[in-house]
Amino acid sequence: MIDFQNVSMAYSNKAPLALNDVSLHIDQGEFVFIIGPSGSGKSTVIKLLSCEERFQEGEIVLGDKALARIKPRAIPYVRRNLGMIFQDFRLIDSKTVFENVAFAMEIVGASKSKIRRQVPIVLSTVGLRSKMKAKPSELSGGEQQRVAIARAIVNNPKVLLADEPTGNLDPDNSEQIMALLQEINKEGTTVVVCTHDRDLVDKMRQRVIEIKDGMVIRDELQGSYSYCILPEETRE
Ligand code: ADP
Repeated sequence: MIDFQNVSMAYSNKAPLALNDVSLHIDQGEFVFIIGPSGSGKSTVIKLLSCEERFQEGEIVLGDKALARIKPRAIPYVRRNLGMIFQDFRLIDSKTVFENVAFAMEIVGASKSKIRRQVPIVLSTVGLRSKMKAKPSELSGGEQQRVAIARAIVNNPKVLLADEPTGNLDPDNSEQIMALLQEINKEGTTVVVCTHDRDLVDKMRQRVIEIKDGMVIRDELQGSYSYCILPEETRE
C-alpha cells in the first residue's frame, strides 16, 4: 500500500539529507506511528506521500502509483486516495463546519445532493452533527480537529495521514482524537500518525517506526515510544 524503497531527499542542493535511504512498507489497513524528535524527518515522509515535495533518490509507491516520476497533472489523483490532518487543523474560518467538510467534496466534483447526504453522515461519525452551522472559531481545539478529520475522510480515502494531530490539544482531547483515528482504521483505512506524543504512543501499542536524522532506526509491532529492552527475568 505504502512502499518507500531506498528514498533519499534533500530540500535543496546545499541542505543535508532530510531522509537518508529510507525503506519502509505499510500494508493496507495498518495503523502506524512515525516517531522521532523534531527535525528527524517525519513531516517529510508525509510531504513526499502527498507529492508536496519531491525526492531525489529511490522510489515511493502509494497504492498502484509510483511517485518518483509522477507528472504534475497526475498529482490530484494521487491525493484523492489520501486524507490529511495537521496540528493546526487548517480549517477555513469563514466557512461553517458543514461548508468546510463540503468543500473537500466540491473539489472532487461531487454533486450537491451527494454532499447534502454525505456531510451529515461523516459529521455524525466524528460526533459533531449538532455543530454543523457553527464556525470553527466557535469550537474547541478538539472539536476543530474532529471537523478536520471529517473533512479528511469524507471522500473515503484509502490512507489517512496525520501530522502531529494532537500537538495543539490537551491530553483528554488527544485521547479522543486517537480513539477516533483508531475507529476509522477499524473500518479499513490505513492510518499513519507522525507524533512525538510519548504518552499516546505508549498507551496505544501500535506499530512504531522511529526516525532519527532522516533514517529509520526502529520498526516495531506493538511498540512504545522508547525502545525498551526488558530485563532477562521478565522476558517471556
Ligand atoms: P519533523 O517532521 O520530524 O520535525 P521534518 O521532516 O519537518 O522533521 O524535517 C526534516 C529536516 O528537513 C529538518 O532538518 C528540517 O530542518 C528540514 N526541512 C524541513 N522542511 C524544510 C523546508 N521547507 N526547507 C528546508 N529544509 C526543511
